[in-house]
Formats: sequence, structure tokens, C-alpha cells
Amino acid sequence: MLSDIEIASAAKMLPIDQIARSLGVLPEELEPYGRYKAKLAESIYKRLADRENGKLILVTAINPTPAGEGKTTTTVGLGEAMPRIGKKAIIALREPSLGPVFGVKGGAAGGGYSQVVPMEDINLHFTGDMHAITAANNLLCALIDNHIQQGNVLGIDPRRILFKRCLDMNDRALRHTIIGLGGKANGTPREDGFQITVASEVMAILCLAADLPDLKKRLGDILVAYTYAGDPVYCRDLKAEGSMTALLKDAIKPNLIQTLENTPALMHGGPFANIAHGCNSVRATKLALKLADYCITEAGFGSDLGAEKFMDIKCRMAGLAPSAVVLVATIRALKYNGGVAKADLSQENVEALKKGLPNLEKHIENMKKFGVPVVVAINRFGTDTDAEIAVLSEAMEKNGVAFSLCEHFAKGGEGAMDLAEKVVAACEEPSDFHPIYELDRPVEEKIETICREIYGAAGVEYSAAAKKAIKDITALGKGGLPICMAKTQYSLSDNQKLLGRPEGFTIHVGEVRLSAGAGFIVVQTGDIMTMPGLPKVPAANQIDVDEDGQILGLF
Ligand code: ADP
Ligand code: MG
Repeated sequence: MLSDIEIASAAKMLPIDQIARSLGVLPEELEPYGRYKAKLAESIYKRLADRENGKLILVTAINPTPAGEGKTTTTVGLGEAMPRIGKKAIIALREPSLGPVFGVKGGAAGGGYSQVVPMEDINLHFTGDMHAITAANNLLCALIDNHIQQGNVLGIDPRRILFKRCLDMNDRALRHTIIGLGGKANGTPREDGFQITVASEVMAILCLAADLPDLKKRLGDILVAYTYAGDPVYCRDLKAEGSMTALLKDAIKPNLIQTLENTPALMHGGPFANIAHGCNSVRATKLALKLADYCITEAGFGSDLGAEKFMDIKCRMAGLAPSAVVLVATIRALKYNGGVAKADLSQENVEALKKGLPNLEKHIENMKKFGVPVVVAINRFGTDTDAEIAVLSEAMEKNGVAFSLCEHFAKGGEGAMDLAEKVVAACEEPSDFHPIYELDRPVEEKIETICREIYGAAGVEYSAAAKKAIKDITALGKGGLPICMAKTQYSLSDNQKLLGRPEGFTIHVGEVRLSAGAGFIVVQTGDIMTMPGLPKVPAANQIDVDEDGQILGLF
């Protein structure tokens, strides 16, 4: 089979205005960025405000291997299968971050014959949203340090500045930095650090904002620091939110692209699901629901991370309710959860598969706790053997869950038609969507509900700093916000080595931060970090460009 980039390069893309027309988008609502990408203008929201919403379908997965399990690929494949069974569908995805593109995982535009295109553009600079978010974030940082330099009227305590600089790159050397060295003219020395852009609060705000005024309000609400007297300093105290919003005026508009089979897709915003809330923008999802009968969207990593936050943060905040959940499982990830090393995943191993199955069963149980029908999508790899497929199918039949063996990676939409039929049927089943915890409970109780119900933990342990932060946040009157867990994606626990379905473990909460603008409380567990590093052999070493400008080695 050809590589992802070879397949993508051979795609027969339609001009983006033709894709827009197929959705009923008016010419004046389309803002093209070249021939195959466009942003959608604000006016479309007003025109479609009264139109009935389509059905929302969430694609999530079991605990993944380091290479990902094919959620994006399945989201795209399902989107391509829908028109083949006579349904009007649109896809809503996150924008890739350069961190994974040049790190371990590669791009985030799907794979095989289920990709969104133009994949090189999408994986590299796309329409500049990441840049705009990085710039808005770092503008606020510059204003904070300048405020201190110019006399510090607010009395900002340089030891208690919470807001960090960001960069869309895996760069571990920037996790802890000292800035302001070089004498009086060069700022006040202080400890600082960088996050990857997709973990930043500005990214979360862009993804959760309803419109420009709401974006500006949320930016103004960012808790930046505490003063020497212990009082909070907000972004609006530095009068930064207007200029930050100016930098984001185009980034807030969703991007329209297409799949290899010309199914329309909105790709907008890109928070990671392990260290942020893991879903594309609310604005893209809401618009998608107006433009088609079925909107298929992905939340990052396993259902313990992306899907939990999709339900408890995004849907609750935006008033959305999913009609069905697609849970992606692969035989290789189940074997990985059964203890097989990454290098040996291509070899048949029925015993390891059986050992990994409880992981899938836990994710099925978890998704049912939100009151939404579940369909398991088995994303077939060429290395899966008949014996392994038989064991997995039998387990699903015994479980009683709807499931489908999918071949969209190799065959495009045709390979996911059975999945599409089952998802459409699931959308007609009665559902009773509800978050897993109530907002008005104490912060610790909300954290514990997620840890016990979703992760299967026996208990939660807090560092002294975390306890203090929870007290401060509650004192600020912000204890009623939802929780955004930061946790390893590899395990249901906070220890990436505990695979399968661990039990009796404790979750260790190290740090708790208020994202007052985003509207959630970030809870950092285990040793998860908000600035990833690169591996020994980064994907960057394979990526190249030929004399015609053709990108090579992206996957
Ligand atoms: P996720 O969204 O779950 O992180 P992706 O859809 O991005 O996963 O897929 C991860 C990687 O696995 C991609 O490089 C993709 O090309 C590859 N992949 C996905 N499905 C298959 C499959 N069925 N066979 C082979 N490779 C696949
Ligand atoms: Mg993905």
C-alpha cells in the first residue's frame, strides 16, 4: 500500500468553493485561503441560527499505543461512508500541532484512504491559527513583564506569575527558564517556562468561545498572577484582551477542508487531550450541526481523557448532546494493553489480546455511564490475523455492544459502510446524555468522581501545593467550574506503565491551576508535563522537501 502522503498527493480535490456549495454555504460566507482551504465568515452563524441541528457523533478510543489508534482515520472513514448510505454528513476535527508532527506520532489528518486534504498544509502551517494563538498568548506575557519593568503599579509578585509563554513545538529545554537576565534595561529576572501552544489557556478559550465578544471576555478573565498582597491579577487588569482578540479575529473562524472522497470537514482549534480539554472548537461543532444531518467529531486519546472532557466540559458548556459514541479499538492496541512491546505488535498474539480486552470493556462501560449509545469500531490493520479478529468479535458479541470491523484505512468510505449503518441506528436509540459529575459539588469531590468512575481508581492523593491551590480557587468563587484532568494517555491510571484495566491504584494530584477564562480547573496528575519532548529519533529526521516544493516523509 502507498504511504499516507503518497495517497494524499494523488487526491482529486475539488475547489473549496464547490465543497462549500455542497453544504449550502453562500459565496460571501466563504473566505478562501488558496484553492483548497477556506474560513467561514461570521455572517453564516446568523443566517443559520434557526436551522434545526443535525445529530452529533463522538469518536473516541481505548488507551492507545504511542502511534495513535486511528480515531482521526475512523472519523474521516465514517464521514466518507455516510454519503454512500445516503446520509448528509460533515466532519469536525482538531488542527494538528507541530509537536507530534515532528515527534513520535506524525500528522493528524487521518491515514490511508481516509484522510483530510491538503494533508501537507494541514499538518504544517494550515491557515495560521496556531501562530495567531501563540502570538496572542505571548503578547500577554510580554505585557506582564513590561508592567513589572515599568514600575509594577499592580504589585505583581514575580514569584507568583501563573501565565506562561508558549510555542507550538516539542522543546523540553524550555520547560523551565529564567528570563530577564542582562541588567536593568532587560527586564526583571524571574523563573518562567513554556507550554506547548495546544496546552495553553488561549487555545482552550478559542475552542470554547461562542463568538468574538465571548472570546474577548474570556481572555480578559485569564488569571495571570497574584500580587505581593495575595490578590488576583487578571488579564483585563493589564488591558490586554482587546489586542489579544485582534490577533485572533481570523483564528476564531472555522476552517473548511475536504476528505479524499470530498466529504466536507471543519478543522478548528487543537488542544491536546492529555494536557488540555482535547476537542475541536465549539464554534466548528455548532456550525457543523447546522450544515449537515450528521456531524462526526473526534476527542483526543482514550475515552478516559478526550471523551470525558468532551462530555463534562465541552458539551455541558455549549449545551450540546451527543447522539452516539464510536469507540475505536485496534487489535494492536489491545495487545499493547495486554503487555506486548511496541516493536512486537505486528505478530499474532491471541493471549495478549485476551489480556488487553478488559481495557476495551472498561471504556465501553465508561461511555455508557454518560447515557449515550456506543458502537465499537474495530479499525483493521493489515497485521491483524483471522484468529485475533475472531477472538475480538466473539468478545464483542458476548458483551452485547454494537460493533463493526472496519477497513476504511485500506478502502476509504466503502470500508466503513457497515459502521455507518450501525451508527445511524444508534442515533435513533433512546439516549439520556448527562455529565458524570455535578458542577456544584466541592472541587475534590468532582476530581474523585472522575478518578473512581472513569479511571477505576481506589482513591486520590493531593500534594500540599494542590490542596492550597484548591483552597485559593474556591476562595475566589471559582470552585463551581468543571475539571480538566491532565494525565498520561497510555494508562487509565496516572502511571503510564499500568496498562490494561488496573485496579486499586491511587491518582496523585501534583498541581491544580485555575483557567478562569477557559472556565475550568486544570488538575495535573502523575508526572505529566505541559511541554512535551522529542524522542531519540524524531519524525523530523525523515521529513524533507524536493526542488518542486513537494513535501516528503510526512505521515
Ligand atoms: P488517532 O486519531 O487515534 O491518534 P490516527 O487516525 O491519527 O489516530 O492514526 C494514527 C496512525 O495510524 C496514522 O499514522 C495512521 O495512518 C495509522 N493508521 C490508522 N489506522 C490504520 C490502519 N487501519 N492500518 C494501518 N495504519 C493505520
Ligand atoms: Mg487523532
